[in-house]
Amino acid sequence: MSLLKGKNAIVTGAARGIGRAIAIRFAQEGANVAFTDLAVDDNAKEVEKIINDSGVKGKAYASDASSFTETAKVVDEIVKDFGTVDILVNNAGITMDTLLMRMTEEQWDKVININLKSVFNFTKAVQMTMLKQRSGSIINISSVVGVSGNAGQANYSASKAGIIGFTKSVARELGSRNVRCNAVAPGYIITEMTDKLPEEVKKQWEDQIPLKRGGTPEDVADAVLFLASDLSSYVTGQVLGVCGGMKT
Ligand code: NAD
Repeated sequence: MSLLKGKNAIVTGAARGIGRAIAIRFAQEGANVAFTDLAVDDNAKEVEKIINDSGVKGKAYASDASSFTETAKVVDEIVKDFGTVDILVNNAGITMDTLLMRMTEEQWDKVININLKSVFNFTKAVQMTMLKQRSGSIINISSVVGVSGNAGQANYSASKAGIIGFTKSVARELGSRNVRCNAVAPGYIITEMTDKLPEEVKKQWEDQIPLKRGGTPEDVADAVLFLASDLSSYVTGQVLGVCGGMKT
Protein backbone atom coordinates (compact mmCIF):
# COMPACT_ATOMS: atom_id res chain seq x y z
CA MET A 1 0.00 0.00 0.00
CA SER A 2 1.13 3.57 -0.50
CA LEU A 3 -1.19 5.60 1.68
CA LEU A 4 1.33 8.43 2.06
CA LYS A 5 3.04 8.37 -1.33
CA GLY A 6 4.91 11.62 -2.03
CA LYS A 7 4.10 13.20 1.35
CA ASN A 8 6.70 14.67 3.69
CA ALA A 9 6.38 13.96 7.40
CA ILE A 10 8.03 15.15 10.60
CA VAL A 11 7.99 12.88 13.65
CA THR A 12 9.46 14.12 16.94
CA GLY A 13 11.28 11.84 19.37
CA ALA A 14 11.54 8.99 16.87
CA ALA A 15 14.87 7.36 17.75
CA ARG A 16 12.98 4.67 19.66
CA GLY A 17 9.60 3.50 20.95
CA ILE A 18 6.33 4.69 19.45
CA GLY A 19 7.96 7.49 17.40
CA ARG A 20 10.30 4.98 15.77
CA ALA A 21 7.37 2.72 14.82
CA ILE A 22 5.48 5.69 13.35
CA ALA A 23 8.48 6.87 11.31
CA ILE A 24 9.04 3.39 9.90
CA ARG A 25 5.33 2.80 9.17
CA PHE A 26 5.14 6.13 7.32
CA ALA A 27 8.19 5.21 5.22
CA GLN A 28 6.60 1.83 4.34
CA GLU A 29 3.60 3.80 3.04
CA GLY A 30 5.76 5.99 0.78
CA ALA A 31 6.32 9.11 2.91
CA ASN A 32 9.67 10.87 3.20
CA VAL A 33 10.38 11.16 6.91
CA ALA A 34 12.33 13.80 8.81
CA PHE A 35 12.56 12.93 12.47
CA THR A 36 14.04 14.49 15.56
CA ASP A 37 15.42 13.30 18.85
CA LEU A 38 17.69 14.74 21.52
CA ALA A 39 20.73 13.30 19.73
CA VAL A 40 21.48 11.52 16.48
CA ASP A 41 22.74 8.40 18.27
CA ASP A 42 23.03 4.80 17.06
CA ASN A 43 19.28 4.28 17.54
CA ALA A 44 18.48 7.31 15.39
CA LYS A 45 20.96 6.23 12.73
CA GLU A 46 19.33 2.80 12.61
CA VAL A 47 15.87 4.35 12.10
CA GLU A 48 17.32 6.62 9.39
CA LYS A 49 18.77 3.57 7.62
CA ILE A 50 15.51 1.59 7.80
CA ILE A 51 13.64 4.56 6.28
CA ASN A 52 16.16 5.05 3.48
CA ASP A 53 16.17 1.29 2.78
CA SER A 54 12.40 1.54 2.14
CA GLY A 55 13.17 3.66 -0.91
CA VAL A 56 12.11 7.04 0.51
CA LYS A 57 14.12 9.87 2.01
CA GLY A 58 14.80 9.76 5.76
CA LYS A 59 16.87 12.08 7.89
CA ALA A 60 17.49 12.37 11.63
CA TYR A 61 17.90 15.77 13.28
CA ALA A 62 19.15 16.49 16.80
CA SER A 63 16.87 18.95 18.53
CA ASP A 64 15.27 19.47 21.92
CA ALA A 65 11.54 19.71 21.22
CA SER A 66 10.97 21.75 24.38
CA SER A 67 13.09 24.61 23.01
CA PHE A 68 11.15 27.15 20.96
CA THR A 69 14.23 28.51 19.16
CA GLU A 70 15.77 25.08 18.45
CA THR A 71 12.44 23.91 17.04
CA ALA A 72 12.07 26.92 14.71
CA LYS A 73 15.62 26.29 13.49
CA VAL A 74 15.19 22.56 12.89
CA VAL A 75 11.87 23.00 11.06
CA ASP A 76 13.52 25.61 8.79
CA GLU A 77 16.26 23.12 8.05
CA ILE A 78 13.74 20.33 7.36
CA VAL A 79 11.71 22.54 4.99
CA LYS A 80 14.94 23.39 3.13
CA ASP A 81 15.89 19.69 2.91
CA PHE A 82 12.45 18.25 2.10
CA GLY A 83 10.58 21.14 0.41
CA THR A 84 7.22 20.85 2.20
CA VAL A 85 5.69 19.43 5.37
CA ASP A 86 2.42 17.55 4.93
CA ILE A 87 2.30 15.65 8.23
CA LEU A 88 3.52 16.51 11.72
CA VAL A 89 3.50 13.97 14.55
CA ASN A 90 4.21 15.44 17.96
CA ASN A 91 5.39 12.33 19.77
CA ALA A 92 8.38 13.33 21.96
CA GLY A 93 7.54 12.86 25.61
CA ILE A 94 8.81 11.83 29.03
CA THR A 95 7.47 10.77 32.42
CA MET A 96 8.76 11.90 35.83
CA ASP A 97 6.26 10.10 38.05
CA THR A 98 5.86 10.84 41.71
CA LEU A 99 3.11 11.78 44.13
CA LEU A 100 2.21 15.46 44.22
CA MET A 101 3.50 15.55 47.80
CA ARG A 102 7.01 14.85 46.53
CA MET A 103 6.83 16.49 43.08
CA THR A 104 9.40 19.24 42.63
CA GLU A 105 8.97 22.37 40.54
CA GLU A 106 11.65 21.02 38.21
CA GLN A 107 9.74 17.74 37.68
CA TRP A 108 6.60 19.74 36.88
CA ASP A 109 8.33 22.18 34.49
CA LYS A 110 10.32 19.52 32.66
CA VAL A 111 7.33 17.31 31.91
CA ILE A 112 5.13 20.25 30.87
CA ASN A 113 7.86 21.71 28.65
CA ILE A 114 8.86 18.48 26.94
CA ASN A 115 5.37 17.02 26.55
CA LEU A 116 3.16 20.09 26.03
CA LYS A 117 5.26 23.12 25.07
CA SER A 118 6.95 20.98 22.40
CA VAL A 119 3.56 20.52 20.72
CA PHE A 120 3.09 24.31 20.61
CA ASN A 121 6.67 24.78 19.35
CA PHE A 122 6.37 22.38 16.41
CA THR A 123 2.82 23.28 15.45
CA LYS A 124 3.76 26.99 15.37
CA ALA A 125 6.83 26.20 13.29
CA VAL A 126 4.96 24.21 10.59
CA GLN A 127 1.72 26.17 10.49
CA MET A 128 2.66 28.74 7.80
CA THR A 129 3.88 25.99 5.48
CA MET A 130 0.66 24.00 5.92
CA LEU A 131 -1.61 27.05 5.65
CA LYS A 132 0.06 28.17 2.43
CA GLN A 133 -0.30 24.75 0.80
CA ARG A 134 -3.86 24.52 2.14
CA SER A 135 -3.39 21.03 3.47
CA GLY A 136 -1.80 19.26 6.37
CA SER A 137 -2.36 16.73 9.11
CA ILE A 138 -1.08 17.23 12.65
CA ILE A 139 -1.24 14.31 15.07
CA ASN A 140 -0.45 14.82 18.73
CA ILE A 141 0.38 11.88 20.98
CA SER A 142 -1.61 12.33 24.18
CA SER A 143 -2.43 9.45 26.57
CA VAL A 144 -5.42 7.79 28.24
CA VAL A 145 -4.01 9.37 31.39
CA GLY A 146 -4.70 12.80 29.87
CA VAL A 147 -8.40 11.86 29.82
CA SER A 148 -8.72 9.96 33.11
CA GLY A 149 -5.92 11.33 35.33
CA ASN A 150 -3.65 9.03 37.32
CA ALA A 151 -2.26 9.07 40.85
CA GLY A 152 1.48 9.75 40.75
CA GLN A 153 1.29 11.38 37.33
CA ALA A 154 -0.18 14.85 37.97
CA ASN A 155 2.50 16.50 35.78
CA TYR A 156 2.25 13.93 32.97
CA SER A 157 -1.54 13.80 33.04
CA ALA A 158 -1.78 17.63 32.97
CA SER A 159 0.58 17.76 29.98
CA LYS A 160 -1.43 15.13 28.10
CA ALA A 161 -4.79 16.78 28.92
CA GLY A 162 -3.28 20.07 27.72
CA ILE A 163 -2.45 18.41 24.42
CA ILE A 164 -6.13 17.51 23.97
CA GLY A 165 -7.27 21.12 24.52
CA PHE A 166 -4.57 22.36 22.16
CA THR A 167 -5.57 19.80 19.51
CA LYS A 168 -9.25 20.75 19.60
CA SER A 169 -8.44 24.47 19.40
CA VAL A 170 -6.00 24.10 16.51
CA ALA A 171 -8.56 21.94 14.66
CA ARG A 172 -11.03 24.84 14.91
CA GLU A 173 -8.47 27.49 13.94
CA LEU A 174 -6.95 25.76 10.93
CA GLY A 175 -9.88 23.72 9.62
CA SER A 176 -10.96 26.32 7.06
CA ARG A 177 -7.56 25.90 5.35
CA ASN A 178 -7.87 22.10 5.24
CA VAL A 179 -5.31 21.59 7.99
CA ARG A 180 -6.49 18.83 10.33
CA CYS A 181 -5.37 18.26 13.90
CA ASN A 182 -6.14 15.14 15.94
CA ALA A 183 -4.82 13.44 19.05
CA VAL A 184 -4.09 9.79 19.74
CA ALA A 185 -4.46 8.56 23.30
CA PRO A 186 -2.47 5.34 23.75
CA GLY A 187 -3.11 3.16 26.78
CA TYR A 188 -0.46 0.81 28.10
CA ILE A 189 2.06 0.38 25.27
CA ILE A 190 5.14 -1.75 25.80
CA THR A 191 8.18 0.52 25.25
CA GLU A 192 11.22 1.64 27.27
CA MET A 193 8.96 4.24 28.92
CA THR A 194 6.70 1.56 30.43
CA ASP A 195 9.36 -1.14 30.79
CA LYS A 196 10.59 0.53 33.96
CA LEU A 197 7.21 -0.01 35.70
CA PRO A 198 7.20 -2.72 38.41
CA GLU A 199 6.03 -6.17 37.21
CA GLU A 200 2.95 -6.12 39.46
CA VAL A 201 1.86 -2.76 38.02
CA LYS A 202 2.23 -4.11 34.47
CA LYS A 203 0.19 -7.20 35.40
CA GLN A 204 -2.50 -4.98 36.97
CA TRP A 205 -2.73 -2.88 33.80
CA GLU A 206 -3.04 -5.97 31.60
CA ASP A 207 -5.81 -7.42 33.78
CA GLN A 208 -7.85 -4.22 33.36
CA ILE A 209 -7.55 -4.16 29.58
CA PRO A 210 -10.50 -5.78 27.73
CA LEU A 211 -8.12 -7.02 25.01
CA LYS A 212 -5.94 -8.53 27.81
CA ARG A 213 -2.58 -7.36 26.54
CA GLY A 214 -0.34 -4.33 26.40
CA GLY A 215 -0.26 -2.58 23.05
CA THR A 216 2.70 -2.46 20.70
CA PRO A 217 4.26 0.66 19.17
CA GLU A 218 3.00 -0.71 15.84
CA ASP A 219 -0.61 -0.70 17.13
CA VAL A 220 -0.22 3.04 17.75
CA ALA A 221 1.59 3.64 14.45
CA ASP A 222 -1.33 2.13 12.50
CA ALA A 223 -3.81 4.53 14.15
CA VAL A 224 -1.49 7.47 13.49
CA LEU A 225 -1.16 6.34 9.86
CA PHE A 226 -4.95 6.53 9.47
CA LEU A 227 -4.99 10.10 10.83
CA ALA A 228 -2.01 11.12 8.68
CA SER A 229 -3.49 9.73 5.46
CA ASP A 230 -6.35 10.89 3.27
CA LEU A 231 -8.43 8.01 4.69
CA SER A 232 -9.25 10.45 7.51
CA SER A 233 -9.85 13.52 5.32
CA TYR A 234 -13.10 14.40 7.21
CA VAL A 235 -11.71 13.74 10.70
CA THR A 236 -10.40 16.63 12.81
CA GLY A 237 -10.42 17.69 16.46
CA GLN A 238 -10.77 14.08 17.64
CA VAL A 239 -9.06 12.00 20.29
CA LEU A 240 -8.56 8.43 19.13
CA GLY A 241 -7.98 5.96 21.97
CA VAL A 242 -5.52 3.15 21.18
CA CYS A 243 -5.81 1.36 24.47
CA GLY A 244 -7.30 -2.11 24.02
CA GLY A 245 -10.61 -0.77 25.32
CA MET A 246 -9.32 0.50 28.68
CA LYS A 247 -11.84 2.51 30.69
CA THR A 248 -10.88 6.19 30.84
P1 NAD B 1 10.21 6.38 24.80
O1 NAD B 1 10.84 6.90 26.04
O2 NAD B 1 10.46 4.97 24.38
O3 NAD B 1 10.58 7.34 23.56
C1 NAD B 1 10.46 8.73 23.64
C2 NAD B 1 11.45 9.37 22.68
O4 NAD B 1 11.34 10.79 22.82
C3 NAD B 1 12.90 8.99 23.00
O5 NAD B 1 13.59 8.63 21.83
C4 NAD B 1 13.46 10.26 23.63
O6 NAD B 1 14.86 10.45 23.45
C5 NAD B 1 12.65 11.33 22.90
N1 NAD B 1 12.66 12.60 23.63
C6 NAD B 1 12.54 12.81 24.96
N2 NAD B 1 12.65 14.11 25.24
C7 NAD B 1 12.83 14.75 24.06
C8 NAD B 1 13.00 16.11 23.70
N3 NAD B 1 13.02 17.08 24.63
N4 NAD B 1 13.16 16.42 22.39
C9 NAD B 1 13.16 15.46 21.45
N5 NAD B 1 13.00 14.16 21.74
C10 NAD B 1 12.84 13.81 23.02
O7 NAD B 1 8.64 6.64 24.96
P2 NAD B 1 7.38 6.07 24.16
O8 NAD B 1 6.71 5.09 25.04
O9 NAD B 1 7.75 5.67 22.78
O10 NAD B 1 6.45 7.38 24.14
C11 NAD B 1 6.24 8.16 22.99
C12 NAD B 1 5.05 9.08 23.24
O11 NAD B 1 3.90 8.28 23.51
C13 NAD B 1 5.23 9.99 24.44
O12 NAD B 1 4.66 11.26 24.17
C14 NAD B 1 4.46 9.28 25.53
O13 NAD B 1 4.01 10.15 26.53
C15 NAD B 1 3.31 8.70 24.72
N6 NAD B 1 2.63 7.58 25.38
C16 NAD B 1 3.28 6.43 25.67
C17 NAD B 1 2.59 5.40 26.30
C18 NAD B 1 3.24 4.08 26.63
O14 NAD B 1 2.57 3.26 27.26
N7 NAD B 1 4.49 3.83 26.25
C19 NAD B 1 1.24 5.56 26.62
C20 NAD B 1 0.61 6.74 26.30
C21 NAD B 1 1.32 7.75 25.68
